[in-house]
Amino acid sequence: MILDVTVPITNSMPVWPGDPQVRLSPKSHLSRDKSHTVKLTAIEMGSHTGTHVDAPYHFVEGGKRLHEIPLEQLTGKATVLEIAGVRSIGLGDLEHLKWDGIERVLFKTDNSKHWQDGKFYEEFIYLEPDGAEFLVQRGIQLVGIDYLSIDKFKSEKHPTHFALLTRDIVILEGLNLSKVPAGEYTLLALPLNLQDADGAPSRVILTN
Ligand SMILES: [Zn+2]
Repeated sequence: MILDVTVPITNSMPVWPGDPQVRLSPKSHLSRDKSHTVKLTAIEMGSHTGTHVDAPYHFVEGGKRLHEIPLEQLTGKATVLEIAGVRSIGLGDLEHLKWDGIERVLFKTDNSKHWQDGKFYEEFIYLEPDGAEFLVQRGIQLVGIDYLSIDKFKSEKHPTHFALLTRDIVILEGLNLSKVPAGEYTLLALPLNLQDADGAPSRVILTN
């Protein structure tokens, strides 16, 4: 079964405050023989729109650019961990879980409900820096979360991004895991192949 955990890209979707609004503008022209219309779309949006990959370069000077992330890191075994009823995910929420064999982790939280109404939620659940440091020590290579940042809203220093991105651990943000039961899956996270970029919208699916 294929589970699509990608947020649809629309003109009315919530974006990070200050990021470019999404603008999908339908265009068309008549064929040379005037027998049919050729349709295309002009696309305007930020590279961190909706479901997207953060490359290390997003925060780290000299860090890896998007096209330098090996596809092997973005595809393979992934575990969806459901952590409900918390304000943030910290070391205390993680250390008692079984981590043997886990390579990539996607956190399903109460955030996944926020994708229903098109509003931006400031009080989203995030990963604490001590939780990120724990994942680094466990050798996790990719961390996903079901809202638009893995750091707290209005974070000044972005400690969670830095803990992960300085170690070349890829971050997946903006997942919608509302229909995905916790468990083991195969992940395919395929960002647009933007050269030299800091991140890109991505189609992300899980199979089991
Ligand atoms: Zn980010």
